[in-house]
Amino acid sequence: MSGTSSAARAARAERDGRLAGLDFDRSPFVIAWELTRACAYACAHCRADAQPRRDPRELDTPRALALIDDIAGFDPAPILVLTGGDPLMRRDVFEIAAHADRRGLRVALTPTATALTTPARMVEARAVGVRRVAFSLDAPAAALHDRFRGFSGSFERTLAGIEAAGEAGLPLQINTTVCVLNANVIERMVPLIAGLGAVQWSVFFLVPTGRGRRLAMLSAAGHERLIRWLDRSAAEFPFDLKITAAPQHRRVALERAGDGGLAGAGYRFADGLRRPAKGVNDGRGFMFVSHRGEVMPSGFLPLSAGRAPAESAVRLYREAPLFRELRDPGALGGKCGRCEFREVCGGSRARAYAVSGDHLGSDPSCPYQPGKSLSSSSSGSSEASSSRATASGGGPPGTP
Ligand code: SF4
Repeated sequence: MSGTSSAARAARAERDGRLAGLDFDRSPFVIAWELTRACAYACAHCRADAQPRRDPRELDTPRALALIDDIAGFDPAPILVLTGGDPLMRRDVFEIAAHADRRGLRVALTPTATALTTPARMVEARAVGVRRVAFSLDAPAAALHDRFRGFSGSFERTLAGIEAAGEAGLPLQINTTVCVLNANVIERMVPLIAGLGAVQWSVFFLVPTGRGRRLAMLSAAGHERLIRWLDRSAAEFPFDLKITAAPQHRRVALERAGDGGLAGAGYRFADGLRRPAKGVNDGRGFMFVSHRGEVMPSGFLPLSAGRAPAESAVRLYREAPLFRELRDPGALGGKCGRCEFREVCGGSRARAYAVSGDHLGSDPSCPYQPGKSLSSSSSGSSEASSSRATASGGGPPGTP
């Protein structure tokens, strides 16, 4: 790889610049809105447990537009990701996107790659103000990707949708969910994504919720190995890298930076390039709105603070006890509550909830032992020892 492309560098610089001045107590950086749970696919890891038909309780068009008017009150305006299910299953998706763009929101779209992702729809998406489109690719070849998606031919459909988006001039993001099924082929995703011209690769570490409960997530050691490989390799990727549901990547980046910086959530990494200045986490810089208008900290953390637009999503994000405690590192319990990195990391609140039922408890995907120095933490659990040995040896990330 020849290093990050100018488009990806620009995307990262813009994201980091907007994050730097953001007060997470006032505004989220990203809002993901599940427009519908309807989807033609039945993906093995689907958080939404998507269904073939639309739920009659979805927000109708007037309430959808009212929700946009409400969240346009965040200052600065967040990124609004229109997701699902498949957002293209709603006929009013472009009316909603156009309204959001007019109200100053930065709109992204995550369609399912089906017969609906036509060149004409991608052109329309760009015309109404969609700024980025994200397609999911979970493996570098058709057989495994199609197994994830539950639909033979989905890999080819995805490539066709990506081509249509590219011809429409839409910047491309690739989303990949990592679990034991695909960890051993994750390195091979890099040349594929590079060849597609993506500006960002968004790697989601499986949270066992929705249909994802039936899949096995990586062990703590497996998480650590893969995160360390991503951290070592990202500078050579010709696209930006984003990691979701594994905030311990910020601990790993701090270790790489070698300064042991523990200055809290506003810490800016020493290299100034490799990570945003602030750590987005469930309910802290991130908000999710379900198809029924439930305001949640994340799509992977199905706890509702209230129902929009009857209640203001802005007020719920800023004032609801659920959101406020998720932004308070002092409220964390278990290992994460004792951890020196709790302000920059805090663990995946969604995974803690999915595994233990306690959204403020320990994130079981992290092998770090609080209270030990970075250089001595490998003497903690056997998983920590394993991960550190692998990282220093430069081994492959794929062993679950
Ligand atoms: S113990 Fe928790 S807070 Fe500390 S690095 Fe691990 S996941 Fe993050």
